[in-house]
Amino acid sequence: MGLLQRRRQQPVGDSAAIDDARVDLDAARRELIRAQVALDSLPLGVVLVDHRGVVVIRNARNVAGSGHGDVLVQEAIDRLVPTALAGRESHTSVELYGPPKKVIQVSAAPLSDGGAIVSVEDISERSRLDAVRTDFVANISHELKTPVGALAVLAEAIADETDIDVVQRLSVKMVDEAHRAATAIDDLLELSRIELGGTAVSDPVQAADVLGDAVVRSLASAEQRNIHIDLDEPAALTVRGDRRQLVSALSNLIDNAVKYSEPGSDVHIAAELVDGLVNFSISDHGVGIPSRDLDRIFERFYRVDRARSRETGGTGLGLAIVRHVATNHEGDVQVKSAEGEGSTFTLRIPVAP
Ligand code: ADP
Repeated sequence: MGLLQRRRQQPVGDSAAIDDARVDLDAARRELIRAQVALDSLPLGVVLVDHRGVVVIRNARNVAGSGHGDVLVQEAIDRLVPTALAGRESHTSVELYGPPKKVIQVSAAPLSDGGAIVSVEDISERSRLDAVRTDFVANISHELKTPVGALAVLAEAIADETDIDVVQRLSVKMVDEAHRAATAIDDLLELSRIELGGTAVSDPVQAADVLGDAVVRSLASAEQRNIHIDLDEPAALTVRGDRRQLVSALSNLIDNAVKYSEPGSDVHIAAELVDGLVNFSISDHGVGIPSRDLDRIFERFYRVDRARSRETGGTGLGLAIVRHVATNHEGDVQVKSAEGEGSTFTLRIPVAP
C-alpha cells in the first residue's frame, strides 16, 4: 500500500513541480514584459549590455527618428561601450542636420556586474536654449558696450577740447549715446519683467483705454517726425490681462510704425472684434519689411537694417516684447508687409467672456 501510494504520488508530485516551474516561468515572463513596457515608456533610449558587450535588453524608444540617424547613434553606442566595460563613464553627442535638426546625447556607464548601460537622449531643445542664452549674453554686451564705449571716447575728446562749439556738438552726441544705453537697459528690463511675469494679472481691460495710453506715449515722436496718428474710435471691447503689458506691446508697435514711416505720412490704428479675438491693428505706409525677414523680426535683437535701426535708436527688442505679451495673453501677433509700401501689425487677444 505504501509503495502503491508512493508510486501514485510520484507522478502527481512531478506534475506539481512542473506546474510550479511553469508558474515561476510565467511570473518571470510577466515581470520581464513589465520591465520592457516600463523601459519603453522612458523618454530616452536605453541599452543594457552584459560583460561581453552583448545586448541583454534595449527599449523601443527611437530617439533619432530616421534611418540615417539610427546608424549614427548605433556607431556612437558601439564606440562608447568598450570604455564603459573597462569601468569608465563616457559621453558623446551626435548632431543630425535634419530637418528637423537634432542633437542626441549618448552616455555609457559601467554596471557593478561587469556589464554596462547606455542611454540615448534627445537634447535638441536644451542645446537650442543654451545657444540662445549664449547669443543673448553676447548681444546684451554688444548693445551696452557700443554706447558706453562711444561715451568714453566722447568724454576724452571733450576733456582736450577748448573750442566751445565743438564741446557743445560733442556733448549733444554724449546725450544721444547715454539715451541709447538707457533705452537698451529699459527694454531689457521690460522684456525680462514680461518673460518672468507670465500671465499673473488677469484684470478686465478696456481696449479703448490701452490703445489711448499707448498712443499718448508715441505722440511726441510722431509730432517730431510729422506723422499723423489716425485712431479709429474703438468699440466697447474688453480683454482680460495685464494692462501694463498690453500698453507696452501696443506702444512698441505704434513706435515702430512711426519710426519706420516717411515724414508726413499717416499711421492708422484700430481695434475690432473678429472671431472672438480683439484685433488691435497698426498700419503704416513706411519702408515695409522684405518677406525673407518676416519670420525673424520677432527674435530678440533682430533688425532688418542695422544702420537704420541705430539711427532711429532701436534696440531690436520691441517686437520680442510684443510677441511675449501676446503669448502671455493666449493671443498672437501677425504681420503683413510689402517693401516700400508699408506694414500692418495685428495683435490679437481673446475678448473677455
Ligand atoms: P527696433 O528696436 O530695431 O525697432 P523691433 O524688435 O521693434 O526692433 O523690430 C525689429 C525690426 O523689425 C526693426 O529693426 C525693423 O527692421 C523691423 N520693423 C519693425 N516694425 C517695422 C515697421 N512698422 N516697418 C518696417 N520695419 C519694421
